Amino acid sequence: MAIPEPLLDGYRNFKDSQLAHQAALYRRLAQGQTPQTMMIACADSRVDPATIFSAGPGELFVVRNVANLVPPYEESGGYHGTSAAIEFAVENLKVKNIVIMGHGQCGGIAASLSERPVGQFIAPWVDMISEARDVVLAENPGAGAATLQTALEHAAIGSSLNNLLTFPFVKSAVADGRVQLHGAWFAIARGELHWQSHSGQFEKIS
Ligand SMILES: [Zn+2]
Repeated sequence: MAIPEPLLDGYRNFKDSQLAHQAALYRRLAQGQTPQTMMIACADSRVDPATIFSAGPGELFVVRNVANLVPPYEESGGYHGTSAAIEFAVENLKVKNIVIMGHGQCGGIAASLSERPVGQFIAPWVDMISEARDVVLAENPGAGAATLQTALEHAAIGSSLNNLLTFPFVKSAVADGRVQLHGAWFAIARGELHWQSHSGQFEKIS
């Protein structure tokens, strides 16, 4: 199959502009990567961490999945893609920060709040936050859809931060002060970044 036109145009643009200016950087990065931060973000096309944080190549180790969820530590076999990336980031790359970045209008979060089945793979994936969803529903009786959506987007970040600590290598890295965990949330329409404070509240970065 031929390369789709928008991808071809994009690559040519990259090659002629960015790569032309960063050829030495790319050659150096070919020797290895030392990103300081792991970012766990949503697969949503509107919330690219490299764009939001103005990060160049080699600066962020990024995993993106539906609704930026971290599954709990499991010893059973299976294709634990996100868990493998967390292990690599902490054990091999020795990242200093892990950021879970949620966002507004998240389809994965909406799927969790939806009453209809939402797909063969999506439904069991977002079932990971069913407990957080039930808490949000119980704490916000009569709330509108938008309020519930934002509340669960925030609560799911908390749930993923808790799940991170179920990985023994993350738990010990955090206890030793080698790794710091962070929660963040991005408002698409306003381009606002909100960072989770120690109290658990999300505060807008000015
Ligand atoms: Zn999303």
